[in-house]
Amino acid sequence: MCVLILYLLISTSIVTADNMNNSASDEQDVVNFLSKYGYLKPLNNDINSNNSIRYKENYNEALFNFQEFYNLPATGEINQETLKLIKQSRCGLPDAVLSDYTLHPKKWSHFNITWRAHVGDSHIKSLVRKAFSIWEEFTNLKFTETPRNRYPNIFIAFTARKHKYFIHQRECSSDFDGPGNVLAHADFPNDINVTEIHIDNAESWSYSTTVDASYSDSPSLLNVIIHELGHTLGLEHSSVNTSIMYSFYSNSRSKLDQDDIWAIQNLYGIKSKQKPTFNVSTTTTQKSLLTTSTPKNVTVLPKDNNNNKFPDLCSLQTIDKFLIVKTHLYIFYKKNYSNLS
Ligand SMILES: [Zn+2]
Ligand SMILES: [Zn+2]
Repeated sequence: MCVLILYLLISTSIVTADNMNNSASDEQDVVNFLSKYGYLKPLNNDINSNNSIRYKENYNEALFNFQEFYNLPATGEINQETLKLIKQSRCGLPDAVLSDYTLHPKKWSHFNITWRAHVGDSHIKSLVRKAFSIWEEFTNLKFTETPRNRYPNIFIAFTARKHKYFIHQRECSSDFDGPGNVLAHADFPNDINVTEIHIDNAESWSYSTTVDASYSDSPSLLNVIIHELGHTLGLEHSSVNTSIMYSFYSNSRSKLDQDDIWAIQNLYGIKSKQKPTFNVSTTTTQKSLLTTSTPKNVTVLPKDNNNNKFPDLCSLQTIDKFLIVKTHLYIFYKKNYSNLS
């Protein structure tokens, strides 16, 4: 009997220690994740003795912001949904929560954009062309492949682990991490340096020209290039999980979501001769979502959308985006919008 009690005591203490180790390990994983993807700024070591209190407050707020952005139970504390999501493969770019990118979006100042890919395989090159064509479909952007003796606007390359920029040979600040986790990353548009997309060579890519959720566990190269091209055109991550700009990878996404189309057209206007995105009732007054010079081709919000269930605006801590059109302010949140005239 004594032996049994002793065994139970030892077992219990081992389990308790394991749980503590697991929770400490989970918290460290979450801290690393939040720091890497733009939610948590590192604290200055020499601030003062309130460092640990401020760290805890910052950590809980950062975790809350991440959970809310990705529609997880937002408690500011670690939960299983959060741990599950942060372990999924994703794009290496931060989610821009701490930056002012949303207020100052970057975009190309011209519509004819050149590109070059550092790949010899003609099939992969065809995937790259297809990815460009998907973005070309909804705007007047025109993508042209450049010869090797010219600098392109966008350069695409496979690389691994610690790596450099291919064109200007400066160090890339984001090392790749081997198979899984970070799949690729990209620059936002800039008119000074070539904007590069770096793709992790350590992944076992699927090179299919279509993205089929049913047949492969390998990440789709086409899907990932479409996503990274979105960054090179000026788009940041979306919280809409059907969007191609959702940061976590899913092989169920193969084309632009309405959220992506709104975002890219907000930067570059809609494609000439494109039909309106929505069906418009005959009594609806057409109002352009975009302050562009294409008044005859406008994207129109339906006046009466039965699916539009916008929550109480005062209850929201964040919104997805907003648009100002003349005297109207449109607030977007989880595929719904509110028109504040
Ligand atoms: Zn991304
Ligand atoms: Zn890189």
